[in-house]
Amino acid sequence: MQDSNAAQTTSGTGLQGQSRRRLNALGMDREAWAALLEELGEKPYRVEQILKWLHHRFVDDFADMTDISKKLRTELAERREIREPEIVSEHLSTDGTRKWLIRAAGGSAVEMVFIPEPNRGTLCVSSQVGCALDCKFCATGKQGFNSNLTAAEIVGQVRIAVQTLADAYPERERVVTNVVLMGMGEPLLNFDAVAPAVDLMMDDLGYGISKRRVTISTAGVVPGIYRLAERTDASLAISLHAPNDALRDELVPINRKYPIAELLKACRSYAGNLGEKRTVTVEYTLLNGVNDQPEHAAQMVELLRDFPCKINLIPFNPFPGSGFERPTVTSVRAFQHRLASAGLSVTVRTTRGEDIDAACGQLVGSVADRTRRQARYRRLASAS
Ligand code: SAH
Repeated sequence: MQDSNAAQTTSGTGLQGQSRRRLNALGMDREAWAALLEELGEKPYRVEQILKWLHHRFVDDFADMTDISKKLRTELAERREIREPEIVSEHLSTDGTRKWLIRAAGGSAVEMVFIPEPNRGTLCVSSQVGCALDCKFCATGKQGFNSNLTAAEIVGQVRIAVQTLADAYPERERVVTNVVLMGMGEPLLNFDAVAPAVDLMMDDLGYGISKRRVTISTAGVVPGIYRLAERTDASLAISLHAPNDALRDELVPINRKYPIAELLKACRSYAGNLGEKRTVTVEYTLLNGVNDQPEHAAQMVELLRDFPCKINLIPFNPFPGSGFERPTVTSVRAFQHRLASAGLSVTVRTTRGEDIDAACGQLVGSVADRTRRQARYRRLASAS
């Protein structure tokens, strides 16, 4: 049993001061609470009471947990803090999409996006400050990497959204119906924080979102997929973006370590655990003239013919200096048609929140980069 908040003491600008900070109660899943309460000689049913106070009633102080003893409240307050991440700013798009900038430990900030649709509301949360993977068409990648978010900072994003949006949508019984880990960062490179955060999103004592509606998206961290299967049955999406290794090596550099065949094998194994009628989602960002040609569609058909999945085409969302273009609507349709007519299940993701830079791949937050990639990219972008 490991402490889901362990990263907290070592993240941020330095250990001084941070090491004395109490771990954040918001990142603790059932298991973590059960272990702590056992240590304190308390009965297991306290787990339920505490989780409800934290994630249903949103208390920020152990003293407010009125159905547990004063002694236990004091003991908890000595050992844990309740700290929701701070909102730096909020932006509302003309299409109803919202984007928040959220402060993370160490002073950097990440972005979170809410996309309302008539019958559902999808929250896109970040898992890291920046990203180390450097996919060539992703604005987050250009920011370089700073740090992992803690479990409390990841689930804290859901906590913020659920509270803030209740007022904006009084007619909806449940505003956040879906969560996708498709914001900034690579979730499977922050496994120890993502796993308990996802547990809490799906737990009835947490946010009670169905396992089909909590989706972890990975650029292809193959060992992470196998590890995930041991731990959860949340939904999985993979960022494929190219139908052959030569092109994927260029666009999604982690492919050089874990090529397409290994990635698909890991997905088959993951899907095997999910049970009937649940498949993996394959994301494919369409880049004009790069991966959207008829031969790419034909290769996709070959590759995925016997691989049960839903393909989600994402027309490229531009950002300054990216060097890529979005294909025309006609060309997106043509690509979709080639896949669909070969029997593949394929949809096109509608672009939302573009006016506030909230679309897929446009999230940049405010990252104090540790990789020097940001500076290098800025030089290149200004030279071109
Ligand atoms: N690191 C994870 C989570 C990011 S999810 C992953 O790679 O899956 C965000 C999705 O949007 C990914 O499929 C990503 O490749 C895609 N994306 C990134 N930049 C984009 C852009 N500029 N336009 C469209 N999609 C983009």
